[in-house]
Amino acid sequence: MLQEGRGAHMTSTQKIYWHTTVQMPDDSNLTPLPETVDVAVIGGGYTGLSAARTLAKHGVRVAVLEANTIGWGASSRNGGMVLTGLKLGMQTVMKRYGRDIAKRLFQCSLDAIDTVEQIVGEENIHCGFARYGHLLTANKPRHYAALKEEVEFMEREFGHRLNLIQPGVQHSEIGSDMYHGALLDECSGGLNPAQYVAGLARAAEKAGASLHGRARVLRLERNGNRFLVETEQGPLSAGSVLVATSGYTGRVTKKLQKKIIPIGSFIIATEKLPNDLAKELIPNGRMIFDSKHYLNYFRLWDHRMIFGGRAAFFPETSSTIQRSAEILRREMIQVYPQLKDARVEYVWGGTLDFAFDMMTHVGQIDGLYYSLGYAGHGVAMATYLGKTVAESMLKGTIKEHPFNLFPFPAAPLRLYDGFPWFLPFAGAWHKVLDWVE
Ligand SMILES: Cc1cc2nc3c(=O)[nH]c(=O)nc-3n(C[C@H](O)[C@H](O)[C@H](O)COP(=O)(O)OP(=O)(O)OC[C@H]3O[C@@H](n4cnc5c(N)ncnc54)[C@H](O)[C@@H]3O)c2cc1C
Repeated sequence: MLQEGRGAHMTSTQKIYWHTTVQMPDDSNLTPLPETVDVAVIGGGYTGLSAARTLAKHGVRVAVLEANTIGWGASSRNGGMVLTGLKLGMQTVMKRYGRDIAKRLFQCSLDAIDTVEQIVGEENIHCGFARYGHLLTANKPRHYAALKEEVEFMEREFGHRLNLIQPGVQHSEIGSDMYHGALLDECSGGLNPAQYVAGLARAAEKAGASLHGRARVLRLERNGNRFLVETEQGPLSAGSVLVATSGYTGRVTKKLQKKIIPIGSFIIATEKLPNDLAKELIPNGRMIFDSKHYLNYFRLWDHRMIFGGRAAFFPETSSTIQRSAEILRREMIQVYPQLKDARVEYVWGGTLDFAFDMMTHVGQIDGLYYSLGYAGHGVAMATYLGKTVAESMLKGTIKEHPFNLFPFPAAPLRLYDGFPWFLPFAGAWHKVLDWVE
């Protein structure tokens, strides 16, 4: 769909740019559903495919059931940043859950990046994965003071080395005058998310998993010690079920839907920029995000600026996407006035999954396994948790999983039924916080 935006530089196609870089799995060749499997995985993104690959490698009969086409969800739409840590800062995590759990969770985040690197290598997935490092830029001088503290904290508590980039020398990392210094973590990486999820799907299939697009799960029923899974393509019987539906979690798993808030995130991609300009904007190819609540994240891919943010809080629709294109272009030019004449060629959106405590959660509810709540931090983590939840399913040790050592909260006062009516207020609140903090 071509949408004419305002101004000569806003002729953007509502299309996911990443999908133009790879042959995504489609529905031209649908495999018939098996009647019986050991494990049915609901959702064909990183979580589901990574779990399926691991299970199949252990000889488990596993089917991935995807409502749309394999890789359709956040996994082929994201910014491709493969980040250390969690959505919540580790200081907060340590205050909430104590030193021991915080250390285990942080180590998981490092292992998660190693897992992506290992899978990409083992399965020969061409997705441009490299350890580009990430830059967290300070929007205000006092944010820079907080980054200094963070560097000391991470070194002291986790032995994790971060670098401070002083405001005076930040042009060596970012060609913008908008920020007041930055923090650099060289451990993080970047990749092309659609190429990665397409490769992960091939790897899961090669291991023996069967993948089924257009197989939306409509109903789940406990049948003795098995599950009857009703899908658009007919029923199947499964020994276990793993819910891997992230921001698209729906009524079929109502108890989980009530614990997850779906939030829209949007991205624009510019035309290809001249080499010198691209080099000036992000000299070392870092993955970048800023210190606002209503944050922006950006990076380069193939000389295009890929610039994202939570321009509208509600999940993607044609109108939230188009409005976001205009907002994001304005924000991009604030960061990089050099891009005022760059054409925005693509705009798209996707849905994030936030738990009420902003943490990622794995475990079992009514006998169903789940891994959810990545809060925009799921490229590495969903891959890793797909794998490790699958391993826990095999060993019967899900209770001991580090992401199952703390409670998965319901909505405060239980005022939430799966429709996020409060998002406009939350969006406005974040804008106020960005103004005062
Ligand atoms: C715009 C955007 C930018 C992001 N940027 C980054 C980033 O730079 N770095 C980062 O780490 N993370 C980022 N994320 C988050 C990351 O993409 C996700 O955390 C990750 O992809 C989650 O993977 P998943 O497999 O759990 O879910 P998804 O990939 O969302 O897959 C879930 C699937 O479940 C399917 N489904 C739902 N209900 C049913 C049903 N009833 N039956 C069958 N199938 C069903 C959906 O169709 C969907 O395909 C971003 C997300 C978005 C949207």
